[in-house]
Amino acid sequence: MGFIEKAKETIMNTYKRNNVVLVEGKGSYVFDEQGNKYLDFTSGIAVCSLGHCPDEVISAVERQMKKLIHTSNLYYTIPQIELAEKLVKLSGGGVKVFFCNSGAEANEGAIKLARKYHRHKGSNKYEIITFFNSFHGRTYGALSATAQEKFHKGFEPMLSGFQYAELNNIESVKRLINENTAGIMLELIQGEGGINECAKSFINGIMEICSKEEILLIIDEVQTGVGRTGRFFSFEHYGIRPHIWSIAKGIAGGLPMGAIIAVDNVASALEPGTHATTFGGGPVICSAALAVVNTISDEKFLASVIEKGYYLENKIKELQKKYPLGNIKGKGLLRGVELTLKEPSRVVDAGLKNGLLLNVTAGNILRLLPPLNVKYEEIDEFIDRLTKTMAEV
Ligand SMILES: *Cc1c(COP(=O)(O)O)cnc(C)c1O
Repeated sequence: MGFIEKAKETIMNTYKRNNVVLVEGKGSYVFDEQGNKYLDFTSGIAVCSLGHCPDEVISAVERQMKKLIHTSNLYYTIPQIELAEKLVKLSGGGVKVFFCNSGAEANEGAIKLARKYHRHKGSNKYEIITFFNSFHGRTYGALSATAQEKFHKGFEPMLSGFQYAELNNIESVKRLINENTAGIMLELIQGEGGINECAKSFINGIMEICSKEEILLIIDEVQTGVGRTGRFFSFEHYGIRPHIWSIAKGIAGGLPMGAIIAVDNVASALEPGTHATTFGGGPVICSAALAVVNTISDEKFLASVIEKGYYLENKIKELQKKYPLGNIKGKGLLRGVELTLKEPSRVVDAGLKNGLLLNVTAGNILRLLPPLNVKYEEIDEFIDRLTKTMAEV
């Protein structure tokens, strides 16, 4: 029996997987069982931010594995402290970090923290406003925050206390504000929802509401954070700083990590015993993340993400003239292109045959997530292969 048949017999059928077994990767490429080579423009969904098997992550993990693997959070460990120090600095100071293991878990913590902050201040505010087409994760709190019916179906009832508004429609937010509103939570560029960007004026409006009504602004940076948009955090594009934000995906170069970051006076609402995780912030994962963050936070590196984003954008614009492609959206290397043809998922299948790993989200948005250190020649190669793919479909 082949691996795929074995998988069908043994693994829960929760993913629409591509018919390929990947065994190796280096940089922007992965290889399957038969030795076929693929250019990866998904990066494990924005996770492999420095490409596959990056040297700095391997050596950091190797070093730490031999020293200390796990202690629990009953003790201090140096990699966790060093990583926190770096993230606090990159946040502009005056914040604290909590480490966990995934994006959903970080958002769960962010929601708990928002409620706890208000309780700590002697108020009972508990409602969180989120937005249609958002994605915050699959656990109950994060799923309830995710305003997309298709993800809720069959799992109801959702956690109470979530209200849904429309992105870039400030009136739809104002209508939902009441004495129980504790927080407003959103992605500045909706990733799973189709690379939908928040307008600057909309975010300014949200900021105004938050300060007037004593509401916390929570930004989900799980997909947009850690350099993906060309700034370390995507909120830097907007000249703002939220009260709470979550990160995950790209932070540890392929290993699982999430984190909540919150400004000091909010973070202090979580006292000893109020929130915890066994694995979160372990020394091995923090060593990996520190290597990733040190590379990505470099100003020149971040500037190169913006430049490569424009380079890719201009190349896609040339293809728009010939093939059924809409406008390219997004920032840096978090990009989306509308596929204006029937059965858009055919592009993914045809891409695979042409040695390309592609992802389509929100039904018809080709989501481009190359490694942040992708080379210009690789972008050219991507365009060649995408051209061939589009010509075939
Ligand atoms: C992927 C994602 C999540 C969920 O992260 P997991 O690690 O899969 O739990 C949450 N928010 C956003 C914006 C995401 O893209």
